[in-house]
Amino acid sequence: MNERSNSNSLKLFEQAQELIPGGVNSPVRAFKAVGGNPVFMKSAKGAFLYDEDGNDYLDLINSWGPMIMGHACEMVQDAVKEVLPHSFSYGAPTRREVEMAELIISMVPSIEKVRMVNSGTEATMSAIRVARGFTGRDKIIKFEGCYHGHGDSFLISAGSGAITLGVPDSPGVTKGVAQDTITVPYNNLEAVKQAVEAAPGQIAAIIIEPVVGNMGLVAPVRGFLEGLREICTRENIVLIFDEVMTGFRLAKGGAQERFGVMPDMTTLGKIIGGGFPVGAYGGRKDIMDAVAPAGPVYQAGTLSGNPVAMAAGLAMLRYLNEHDEVYNYLENISDKLVTGMRENMDKLGLNYTINRVGSMFSIFFTRQPVTDFESAKKSDLKLFGQYFNNMLNRGIYLAPSQFETLFISTAITDELADKYLKANFESLQELKN
Ligand code: PLP
Repeated sequence: MNERSNSNSLKLFEQAQELIPGGVNSPVRAFKAVGGNPVFMKSAKGAFLYDEDGNDYLDLINSWGPMIMGHACEMVQDAVKEVLPHSFSYGAPTRREVEMAELIISMVPSIEKVRMVNSGTEATMSAIRVARGFTGRDKIIKFEGCYHGHGDSFLISAGSGAITLGVPDSPGVTKGVAQDTITVPYNNLEAVKQAVEAAPGQIAAIIIEPVVGNMGLVAPVRGFLEGLREICTRENIVLIFDEVMTGFRLAKGGAQERFGVMPDMTTLGKIIGGGFPVGAYGGRKDIMDAVAPAGPVYQAGTLSGNPVAMAAGLAMLRYLNEHDEVYNYLENISDKLVTGMRENMDKLGLNYTINRVGSMFSIFFTRQPVTDFESAKKSDLKLFGQYFNNMLNRGIYLAPSQFETLFISTAITDELADKYLKANFESLQELKN
């Protein structure tokens, strides 16, 4: 392990803290959950990030998901270069938006109509408004530990008990908003049934990460998504799959294709913009026709469908659509990483929990299975922080929080997987000492 200088990152972070709240433009980047100081990045290519001090890092976050083909991939660069001379925004409809809608509808099985926005947060906020407008109901059900962006309705803590009336998680979220969000434990169909029975005819939508990335990686137990589908159909509740992380990643058509369960609405982000700020929400025609100007539910955006972002996203999605082998590769390389980690733990006499679905995985520092937020919170966070820093010192860039997933890109070769596994062995060994 080489000593890594980080003086330029440190200087920038000190300066940033004077100018930007907490020194960062999104909280998790500040490394608060793992200790130490954030690394300021200067460039990235393929599987590697390069920081302001000249260090390189093997990247297992990939910008929190979008860079599924690795950093700065040529096809996205070429697509962006092609559009740049023709201006960056028109505020008028363009051909690429039609092509984008057509492609999304062809790839994501349940989407019949789609609207482009600029982030995952916009997508989920808008989807909820549409579900409320469409059903004429106010309340929504979300799951403990699921993150759907920073819209007020989603920043609600669970409290205790299966059916909990929401309490705001963040100052600034009003009690009035919180009252309309009901939180239940993930993977607990009984709790959902009780919540629905307790508010008859009042639930507009159930929103869920079909595979959760935001409490670490947690998979749905068999029958859970199917059960939600049944309840929603029976009670005329709009089932929303938040596929901001899983869309175009767990399969071409996201988690809904992988698990064969169709929601009424889907929210998308991350990969859909090829690394540019893009989100989208879509779903059944009759529901989406409630959106203005077709219908009465208002939603708009100055930069929505931005030509540069559309060109980048189209290049990315077209490639994924035409190359099934991407998904086979991601499955195999991710399996190699996780199998290797389990072998490392065996050699060291350790037995921590690893969850994986496709190219998303997490290690939890507990021996118990992790199936919901309560069990995820059993992970030893101090050990996670030490493990994170041990890996960082060896040039491996992981998500700086236990309650995040890793995202694998196709730029991780067999050789780089071996490099990762060597660092993993040494980092776990260091934890034991
Ligand atoms: N939904 C999910 C499942 C997410 O993971 C995220 C962000 O990580 C969001 C919504 C919000 O997306 P954005 O950060 O683009 O606003």
